[in-house]
Amino acid sequence: MKKLLVTGGAGFLGSHLCDRLISQGHDVLCVDNYFTGSKQNISHLLGNPRFEALRHDVTFPLYIEVDQIYNLACPASPIHYQHDPVQTTKVNVHGAINMLGLAKRLRARILQASTSEVYGDPDVHPQTENYWGRVNPIGIRSCYDEGKRCAETLFFDYWRQHKLEIKVMRIFNTYGPRMHLNDGRVVSNFIVQALRGEDITIFGDGSQTRSFCYVDDLITGMVALMESPAAFTGPVNIGNPHEMTMLELAEAVLSLTGSTSKLSFKPLPQDDPHQRQPDITLARDTLGWAPKTPLTDGLKETIRYFKTVLG
Ligand code: NAD
Ligand code: UDP
Repeated sequence: MKKLLVTGGAGFLGSHLCDRLISQGHDVLCVDNYFTGSKQNISHLLGNPRFEALRHDVTFPLYIEVDQIYNLACPASPIHYQHDPVQTTKVNVHGAINMLGLAKRLRARILQASTSEVYGDPDVHPQTENYWGRVNPIGIRSCYDEGKRCAETLFFDYWRQHKLEIKVMRIFNTYGPRMHLNDGRVVSNFIVQALRGEDITIFGDGSQTRSFCYVDDLITGMVALMESPAAFTGPVNIGNPHEMTMLELAEAVLSLTGSTSKLSFKPLPQDDPHQRQPDITLARDTLGWAPKTPLTDGLKETIRYFKTVLG
C-alpha cells in the first residue's frame, strides 16, 4: 500500500485513476484547482478515509509527502486549453517543474500524462515513439503541444541529471463517462448532440481520423506503466489502434443512440491533425498491455452516462 498523489485528480481521467488506485488499497491525495475538473467527479470518494482532496494550482510549489506522483493536471480539450493559452503553457511547464522538484526531494517515482499531440499533424503513420513529430510552434494548439513537449524534455533532463525514476505516457484520444459535457471533444459533442436531437457538427469533411480508447483500458495502461521496472522510462504510446474517420464515428453514435439528428459541416479548426493512430507495439511488449473494450461497448457506457447527466 502506497501514498499516491494524482494531480488533476478531479478531471475525467484523474477521477477514474483515483477510483482505480483506491480500489487497489492505496492512499490517494487528489490535487486539483477545478479549472476543468469537478467535485462531482470525486464526490463518491470523499467519505473514504484513504482519499483526500486538496484545492491547489500546480503552477505553485507543493510541499507534501508521497511515494509516487501521477501528473495529470492540465486542461485537455482544445476549447479549454485555448481559453487561456499562457496559463496552459504554465501548467505544463511550471507544473512539471514543481512536480519534478517534489519528486526529487522525495525520491518518488513520477509519471507524466503526455499526449499524442507531441506528434502534431504527423507524416509518419501510425505513430511510433521514436517519431519526433510535426508540430507548429506558433499556432493556436501550440500552448498545449509545445507545453507537453517541454514537459517531456524536463522529465528526461531530471532523469539524466538527477537520476529520477520517470515514466512518460503518450495518451491518445480517450473517451468514457465523466467526459466534460461542454469541452467540445468529438465523442462528447456527438453523443450530446445526438441525445438532444441537435445537428451533429462535423468539422471539415469528416475524413480526418482518430483512434479512440475507452477510459478503463487507458487507466489499466497508466497503472501498468507506473508499476513497470525502473529502467523503463517510456515514452510509450497508450491508446487504441482502431482508427476511424469522424464521419464513421458520427454514424456509430447515431446508430447506438437511435437519434435522427442530421449532419452539419463546419470549418476545420486551424492545425487540426489529419490522421492519428498509435503504434502500441512497445506497450504490448514491455507492459503486456493492449486495449480490450470494443468501441460499441465503450460508446454504450458513455451514452448511458450522458443520458443521466442530461436527465
Ligand atoms: P480534464 O480537463 O478532465 O482533467 C484535467 C484536470 O486538471 C482537471 O481536473 C483540471 O481542473 C485540472 N487542472 C487544470 N489546471 C490545473 C492546475 N493549474 N492545477 C491543478 N489542477 C489543474 O482532462 P483529462 O482528459 O482528464 O486529461 C488528463 C490529462 O491527460 C491531461 O494532462 C491531458 O493533457 C492528458 N491527456 C488526455 C487525453 C484524453 O483524450 N482525455 C489525451 C491525451 C492526453
Ligand atoms: N470534431 C468534429 N466535430 C466536433 C468536435 C470535433 O468533427 O463537434 C473533430 C475535430 O476537428 C478533430 C476530431 O473531431 O478532427 C477530434 O477532435 P477532439 O477535439 O475530440 O480531439 P483532438 O483534435 O484533440 O484529437
